[in-house]
Amino acid sequence: MGSIGSNLQEVKRRIETACEQAGRDAQLVTHVPSLSTGKAPGSSLTLLAVSKTFGADAVLAAIAQGQHAFGENYVQEALTKIDALTAQRAQLQWHLIGPLQSNKTRAVAEAFDWVHTVDRLKIATRLAEQRPAGLAPLQLCLQVNISGEASKSGVLPAELPALAHAVAALPPERVQLRGLMSIPEPQPGADAAAQRRPHCLLRELLMALQAHGLALDTLSMGMSADLEAAVAEGSTLLRVGSAIFGAR
Ligand SMILES: *Cc1c(COP(=O)(O)O)cnc(C)c1O
Repeated sequence: MGSIGSNLQEVKRRIETACEQAGRDAQLVTHVPSLSTGKAPGSSLTLLAVSKTFGADAVLAAIAQGQHAFGENYVQEALTKIDALTAQRAQLQWHLIGPLQSNKTRAVAEAFDWVHTVDRLKIATRLAEQRPAGLAPLQLCLQVNISGEASKSGVLPAELPALAHAVAALPPERVQLRGLMSIPEPQPGADAAAQRRPHCLLRELLMALQAHGLALDTLSMGMSADLEAAVAEGSTLLRVGSAIFGAR
């Protein structure tokens, strides 16, 4: 592994190459834009640096290289980091990408910009109730259990439309539903076509919701090992950890 700076450059190069090969004219941006009105979904792509288990010093090193969007898995660890980086807060976007229990929703509603892992109406309702009025609406994605295993978190595809419509009906000044997120089963050694399949499924689920009138523009999919496959299937938010910060 190189430095955080050279790793970031390498990841961006991978993203650019993947866009070229997929014939995708997406602009790599430093923050997820607000809900795109008029713009085609997928016209921008945000690289989320997943900083779980790494300290505020690693986040600062990435900020120095122009990285502004960060993903965290563990609420308490994230709150400590967000607190340590108060001076940088205004330029950063913090995304929760790990599981969220209902006893942690208040802290999350107060500290984060995005939550990717909503899979129950109860959690979304609490986030809406607890989002401070002075802040921009919390941006939400629904986590979909794309491989359908009982052990995994995420809403099942069959239950997704009802949940999406219910979350979209929550007060828009507090929470805004933006799209879908998934964590496919790792497929070591899988070929490109196999890697694309779960991402293709998530894109089709998003398109079905759009066809039913929901204004959604976000596909949070793709990690260090499969970002090319996710870019090819229209990812708008890549969550990349180890390729930037090193092995955990
Ligand atoms: C850890 C994690 C990532 C980043 O994984 P890497 O393989 O390190 O890129 C992305 N998404 C979620 C939900 C994670 O927990």
